[in-house]
Amino acid sequence: MGSLPKIAIIGGGPAGLTLANILQKNNIPFSLFERDASPNERNQGGTLDLHPKAGQAALRKAGLWDEFIQHARPESDVLKVVKPDGEVLWDGNAGQTPARQDDNNKNTDKFQRPEIDRQKLKDVLLRHLDERNLYYDKTLDSAVPNGQADSWNLHFRDGSIEKEFDLIVGAEGAWSRTRKLLTEIQPFYSGISAIELWALDVNEKHSWMVEYVGQGSLFSFGEGRTIQIQRIGDGSIRTYACLRKPEGFIKDCGIDWTQPDAACRELVERYYDDCGADLKRMILNSTDNLIPRPLYMLPVGIKWNPRPGVTLLGDAAHLMTPFAGVGVNAAMLDALELGNSLVDLKMGKIQTLSQAIEKYEHGLFPRGQAFAQKTINNLKVHFSADGCNHLSMDS
Ligand SMILES: Cc1cc2nc3c(=O)[nH]c(=O)nc-3n(C[C@H](O)[C@H](O)[C@H](O)COP(=O)(O)OP(=O)(O)OC[C@H]3O[C@@H](n4cnc5c(N)ncnc54)[C@H](O)[C@@H]3O)c2cc1C
Repeated sequence: MGSLPKIAIIGGGPAGLTLANILQKNNIPFSLFERDASPNERNQGGTLDLHPKAGQAALRKAGLWDEFIQHARPESDVLKVVKPDGEVLWDGNAGQTPARQDDNNKNTDKFQRPEIDRQKLKDVLLRHLDERNLYYDKTLDSAVPNGQADSWNLHFRDGSIEKEFDLIVGAEGAWSRTRKLLTEIQPFYSGISAIELWALDVNEKHSWMVEYVGQGSLFSFGEGRTIQIQRIGDGSIRTYACLRKPEGFIKDCGIDWTQPDAACRELVERYYDDCGADLKRMILNSTDNLIPRPLYMLPVGIKWNPRPGVTLLGDAAHLMTPFAGVGVNAAMLDALELGNSLVDLKMGKIQTLSQAIEKYEHGLFPRGQAFAQKTINNLKVHFSADGCNHLSMDS
């Protein structure tokens, strides 16, 4: 290619921002368009563990490793597993750990699988980006081929049009508009609905929770239901109460989710009443914020025929449920691999943009499939009667 392609990244989540950093570090121009009005518009709550060969590798490539370790919490890489009846199966806080069989985790240094708050990760990814390349409050409606040349015009919800991009990178998550240029496949309901519950300032308000959960995560798995709890670096604790239910459950079940105290009581009475007292208390006391969400996914092994000037990253390419904790790692690894392809194009190691996309997608499809398969395997096992006992095989 005679000159560098004009690149548009759609979406400023972990995938889009990681790619932006890699491109900027390699002096490859881009424009990033994000729907949110500003980087801090939404609560980016929650915590993510980044794996050495995925999220961590991408941060190293982007030159953000030193920033990352300032905010990472290696002490949170511990897990406690509690059976639904309250029996503690094993407790990483007491030094008990199941054998981890994930190839990503063979590294034994203290940064094996550190947690980082989602908001902190976003801060790290944004800190060094040149703001002149970031466009907020820009919701992509459609991308239309530019009649004159082999390029794309972007139409935004505010009526504006940005013209003549050689490459559109769809990194806009589950409901990607860019995906429509490549495939008609849409996300479908996974069979699981998650009620996200927050307890804030736990050190002050619920010190027993700190004792009970420990430094990292607490999981409880059973037939048709799970409870997953995470310590967050800002002093809060996030609990997911997940249920295998039909798609309309959240809307149709009759629980008023806008009233967290009453909703949590009803949730426990209906679905967790036979659980251990502390597990129930975790739900009943996590009423500072409540977000119910049906979980969607793309088919395992989704792929498409290459199309000049378009590709996808992260959830846009392979949306999966959170039951293997790999979504963000997959997204950042995609960004690393696409970044590598575009750097190769710049250096003349790859001749054309289409070849660069093909090389990236050649790795993307099997990689996405492997992450998605691991996730669906975990989903099946976690929501089974014997889910806790299987954890040593899949954690
Ligand atoms: C409840 C829950 C818990 C999770 N827990 C974990 C976990 O513990 N570990 C893990 O690895 N993963 C987890 N995940 C998955 C992880 O959050 C995603 O895989 C990851 O955020 C994907 O990053 P992304 O950048 O591809 O997409 P997103 O994070 O969805 O970012 C997409 C961005 O695009 C923007 N956007 C959307 N539409 C448009 C548009 N039309 N125009 C412009 N911008 C647009 C959005 O505002 C957003 O900023 C979880 C997911 C959920 C739902």
